[in-house]
Amino acid sequence: MANITVCARFRPLSSRERRDHGDDSVCIERIDDEAFNLKDEKEGELKFGFDKVFYDDSKQDDVYSFLARPIVRDVVNAINGTIITYGQTGAGKTYSMEGPSILECDDAKKGLLARVVDGIFREITSADSIKYTIKLSMVEIYMEKVRDLLDLSKDNIQIKETKSHGISLPEVTEISLSDIAEALQNLSSGICNRAVGETQMNVGSSRSHCIYIFSVHQESTKQTRTFGKLILVDLAGSEKVEKTGAEGRVLEEAKTINKSLSALGNVVHALTCGPNVKGNYIPYRNSKLTRILQDSLGGNSHMALLCCCSPSPSNVSETLSTLRFGARAKHIKASPRVHCTRDKHMKTLGTSFPSEDESRDKVMEKSRESMDAEDVKLLQDLFTWEGRALDPNFLEDLEFDWGEVAAPTDIPFQQAVEELTSAVELLKDQNKVLEAMLVIATRMLSSQGEESGNLGFMHLVSESLKPTITWVASSPLVKLLIDSYVLIPCCWFTK
Ligand code: ADP
Ligand code: MG
Repeated sequence: MANITVCARFRPLSSRERRDHGDDSVCIERIDDEAFNLKDEKEGELKFGFDKVFYDDSKQDDVYSFLARPIVRDVVNAINGTIITYGQTGAGKTYSMEGPSILECDDAKKGLLARVVDGIFREITSADSIKYTIKLSMVEIYMEKVRDLLDLSKDNIQIKETKSHGISLPEVTEISLSDIAEALQNLSSGICNRAVGETQMNVGSSRSHCIYIFSVHQESTKQTRTFGKLILVDLAGSEKVEKTGAEGRVLEEAKTINKSLSALGNVVHALTCGPNVKGNYIPYRNSKLTRILQDSLGGNSHMALLCCCSPSPSNVSETLSTLRFGARAKHIKASPRVHCTRDKHMKTLGTSFPSEDESRDKVMEKSRESMDAEDVKLLQDLFTWEGRALDPNFLEDLEFDWGEVAAPTDIPFQQAVEELTSAVELLKDQNKVLEAMLVIATRMLSSQGEESGNLGFMHLVSESLKPTITWVASSPLVKLLIDSYVLIPCCWFTK
């Protein structure tokens, strides 16, 4: 378990700030590359320390080298990474992420995105025995809706969680990138789509959280496929509504942004407080932002946070709150690990396990010997139910699906517990009924099997279906599943 990397970055004073307050009027005093004092009128001089402090003379490449390069290397080796820019509007988040523009030609000014693309392609070309595929997705969270920036028709993408794949956006557009130029072109189009939104809906670019997702898949000769995901997040700026005088929709936007940023703060708080009376409940579901970042925050990901700040005394209270957020986040622990999937038919530790396809093929082969074509088809449909019926992860994933449907969003924890407790009671009753059905179906199955002298085969079928039926019996999705699937084998067995 390692702590996440947290850095602070101070942008230069703007010309307006220089004019209003003078060239030397900054609220920070440099100590060294890892610490500084913040001068606050109310609270006096406060010392802050981070993994690295980038002052107003820092270079874009310094930020990339310290914060992002190690994460890029890990992603290529199938360890997930997340880089977040955080801070008040105008503090330098987008400048750090994109530079003056994504297609910026001045090498010194290129932002993290262009450097990350460069880094990924550089890493993969140095490993020639491995085949890599790199994909890009881009979304923004605007007014609590996830919009696909590579396909604007997808304006309310759902977030899904499965045990096997963690958090994902199943409907999101993924573009395969074959080289650096193509990557930058696609990033630029996505960013332009954000700008199109700006004119059509007056979405200021800093009024939404922008999320860039690079996935790096590798296939090696050892029959393993590994997968690393790099998420870069350019957060919307936190705003003091009374300071900006926002009204109408702008006020609503500001409230939504502040709500999701405080949800992020609450998650960070819960992650760094240790177990509490609520059993260390982490409120990831209270915003789309925290839900998407669930795996990154304190989970299976290397994470780096860049706290972008204004050095101007006029912004000292926002700077203080950004730095306090960063100081708190510094205590988050993460445990990144390699994502590796075993290829079908692969042997582990000298033992050969039948793959899900092999098990299914065996049953299908037997069934063709003794059943008519219609029944074989029925059985096949049953097994290939969403293509996953015999997937070892299937039952767990289905439970997670149910969790998605039933999960309380933004409702008090106690209420959620009560609702779940009563749901469990209801399910126990349903479970008893279904267990009885299972016993009857199994009896019918064995008597029919004996008659036809084919007990062994029918038993095999019954055993194969049992996990599904047993799980269904304990699931609140029971009605739907009985109607569509479980009754099929029952009718078929009694035919
Ligand atoms: P944010 O995304 O946090 O709202 P921006 O990245 O848009 O803020 O930055 C606001 C302004 O400050 C922009 O004009 C940007 O070019 C400038 N700026 C920010 N950081 C730097 C920096 N490190 N060096 C030079 N200019 C910067
Ligand atoms: Mg911005």
